[in-house]
Amino acid sequence: MQFGKTKWLKMSQLRYQELTAKQKKLLMIGGCVVGIALLWPRQDFELDKRIPVAIDLSHLTAPAADPLPQSLTMNAGPSFDQIVENGDTLSKLFAEAGVDQQTMYKVLEADLNVLVLDTLMPGNRIEFWVNDQGQLNKLKLRFSAAKQAIFTRASDGSYDVKIQEIKGIWQQHVVTGDIHGSFYLSAEKAGLSAAQIQHIESLLKEKINFSRDLRAGDKFSVVLSKQYVEGEATGESHILGIEIASGKQVYSAYRFTDGNFYDEHGHSLTRAFQRLPLAHMYRISSKFNPHRLHPVTGKIAPHNGVDFAVPIGTQVLATGDGIVSLVVPHHKYAGTYVVINNGGKYRTRFLHLSKILVKKGQHVSRGQVIALSGNTGRTTGPHLHYEFLINGHPVNPMTAKIPMENGLNHAERTQFAQLVKSRKLMMTLS
Ligand SMILES: [Zn+2]
Repeated sequence: MQFGKTKWLKMSQLRYQELTAKQKKLLMIGGCVVGIALLWPRQDFELDKRIPVAIDLSHLTAPAADPLPQSLTMNAGPSFDQIVENGDTLSKLFAEAGVDQQTMYKVLEADLNVLVLDTLMPGNRIEFWVNDQGQLNKLKLRFSAAKQAIFTRASDGSYDVKIQEIKGIWQQHVVTGDIHGSFYLSAEKAGLSAAQIQHIESLLKEKINFSRDLRAGDKFSVVLSKQYVEGEATGESHILGIEIASGKQVYSAYRFTDGNFYDEHGHSLTRAFQRLPLAHMYRISSKFNPHRLHPVTGKIAPHNGVDFAVPIGTQVLATGDGIVSLVVPHHKYAGTYVVINNGGKYRTRFLHLSKILVKKGQHVSRGQVIALSGNTGRTTGPHLHYEFLINGHPVNPMTAKIPMENGLNHAERTQFAQLVKSRKLMMTLS
């Protein structure tokens, strides 16, 4: 599916018109249909609907022969500055910027530590600083007002990468609606994004059968926290509270300060992870090590995951419930890889695969076979590289504190009760 920027803008305008019309209707009828906060940003976008730029290494063009006109320093503006469009490829953008293929590979090599290049979407900005010798001094990817990645050339010609994140301001919004038709469509109509709806469905999936239990006229209310930087919505949001009232039943979920979700009695809704992405333990050929000496390049490079020495074709399992957020058929160094968003602050990545068995946007359950291991990308032999990220930062998957099916302790329970009270109030008032 291709989803261009223009189409997306139209969608967003449409949604806004639809909303405004509804708000008018609400004023006239005085009904209780839509309670979207009035602060609903017009230029808000949905990360989940943006399509990654296909990285096509087979269509590389020769480096541009023309010398660049002016001498550029690191402080001057970029020599090439572009908003990524639908259909752009990384190789095309590098060629247009006058940067050769070898340099692009060096950038991809640095990207292996962060894997941000495959998350570049139409609407993102890419800036190149190329000096008059045609060397790429700096490359900047702007994902949103809150997040950018900067690649800078080191003295040996390799690249270092830094992710810059701005905290911004998080504002709370309440979205309410009635159920008519499916929950998905009703929630989408009320202004929730696909990712938010999928998150709600996966949090409450053991309490509600979304295709059977809900009736027309049932109500839902969701408290969201949305990020703004300099008044601009970045597209980042968290769900803080959910209530779905169906007949006499109320189903709820609240995000606690630990980033995990609980029902209103403090029982965990985040299912425990399994430690291994495999059916049984295999030899670990390379441990998680933020200061590893790389076996191929001989450089100090973090090893952000654990390598299991598994033969090609070994079944790779989802370690927790989640939604497939990225499927990459070919990264020069990471090979074929898949990323699972495990809800809230958790993400897992599986690299060097031979085959991916799931699709982007698909729900997966803990223990489900999602791929077959392989030997793709830069490797010294067949293995599975497994990463576990908490708030975007890699942790040791073998030792990290990951959610268990325990409830809250006494002190946390008191704090949680306060939090439920205030969020309930927000949902009632809206
Ligand atoms: Zn590895």
